[in-house]
Amino acid sequence: MKCPYCEHDDTKVSDSRDSKDGTSIKRRRQCQNCEKRFSTYEKVLKLDLEVKKSNGKVEEFNIQKIKRSLLKSCEKRPITLEQIENVLDSVLIDLKKVKEEHIPTQAIGKFVLKNIKDLDEIAFLKYAIVHNNYASMNEFMKEIDKIKDFKGITYRNKPQKK
Ligand SMILES: [Zn+2]
Repeated sequence: MKCPYCEHDDTKVSDSRDSKDGTSIKRRRQCQNCEKRFSTYEKVLKLDLEVKKSNGKVEEFNIQKIKRSLLKSCEKRPITLEQIENVLDSVLIDLKKVKEEHIPTQAIGKFVLKNIKDLDEIAFLKYAIVHNNYASMNEFMKEIDKIKDFKGITYRNKPQKK
């Protein structure tokens, strides 16, 4: 997003508000160069998608639901609102490629995980715990191992005492 005053490319989102019906977003931005503030309005494109929940119910796809759970997972993490919006954009791109009529909720969860993996591993784990319904600690540890292999993260050998 270019600054309308100086055309500088780097602007920071300071606030983001959804409209009541959830179809548009107002963002307050500040130019990193001239520090002037401006607002943008973004219209959410209506995706003609339906979601099939694990109980078999079908409902209309709602990006705001994903955003809410993503915000929860990213709480207290060094992640900007803009990065979250970028993850959501990538999830939408992935979803548009799905050919099925009803997208299972688990598939949406996988797309979200795929797109936050590189952003923040703690947020990834928090999201995974909430959405993957791990049957056991063992299963959860396997997931951590997968990420570890993927990213080459180093872990402490002993859990730290609180
Ligand atoms: Zn500027």
